[in-house]
Amino acid sequence: MTDQPDHADDHVIQAYGLEKRYSIGDSEVRALDAVSVQVRRGEMLAITGPSGSGKSTLMNILGCLDSPDAGTYLLDGDDVAKLSGDRLAAIRNRKIGFVFQNFNLLPRLSALENVELPLLYSAHRDAKTVARKALESVGLGNRLHHETNQLSGGQLQRVAIARAMVTNPAIILADEPTGNLDSHAGGEIMELFHSLNAQGRTIIIVTHDPSVARHCRGEVRISDGKIVATVRHNPVARAGAAEASLNGHGDVEAEVLGSRF
Ligand code: ADP
Repeated sequence: MTDQPDHADDHVIQAYGLEKRYSIGDSEVRALDAVSVQVRRGEMLAITGPSGSGKSTLMNILGCLDSPDAGTYLLDGDDVAKLSGDRLAAIRNRKIGFVFQNFNLLPRLSALENVELPLLYSAHRDAKTVARKALESVGLGNRLHHETNQLSGGQLQRVAIARAMVTNPAIILADEPTGNLDSHAGGEIMELFHSLNAQGRTIIIVTHDPSVARHCRGEVRISDGKIVATVRHNPVARAGAAEASLNGHGDVEAEVLGSRF
């Protein structure tokens, strides 16, 4: 919140003046135009905007999957532009958990095996136990050995969220996490994000859906590559209200603030 003392260390994301341009033939698209945003640890933030506004470009940069043409990005204090490819990949694996619209789970592997994967890369000693606990924490303790084709969309997204959390990342970045789900399953996923956020996890959700954004405390709205509004929603949706809000009946207020969350 902007009314709290400002400790730079509290900001897990500090991005200043991000620029990204694409040239196609003679024309140039400014996918990001001087975007600055700072996100505190423990925040739950939505990045919203219509199709083509620059959301994916911003998410890819914040997720260290792409680099800006100009600007500075500090992820949990590390200036990512100064990191070599290997070190950047290591930081990305450790500090960011990704959740995608299409779940991106490996077929023919069980839920448990999918969640274990990020731990195997780091030769974690007790991967199976940690993965099992993560699945239990998303309500899938009774689906550990089901393969992806034996799970519903909502369950697949829970597996993906467990996989994102299993390395205990500084932030979870979710790209349209309810986009392939019906409103009931989508509401349950938003409730799950709320409970993870209540445990102190920093969550950033990219969405074109205003009803998803209203579940988040903060919202950054972008249009034509620029931040056009920053909004604080109140109150945070209660357990049980998630589905109603996804259906457009959310009880929220908004006010415009600076781009610090
Ligand atoms: P959103 O995620 O909000 O739909 P994007 O970040 O994907 O928006 O795109 C922002 C703008 O940048 C759009 O005009 C898009 O056409 C353009 N763009 C994105 N990626 C590329 C690319 N690889 N090459 C050329 N233009 C791109």
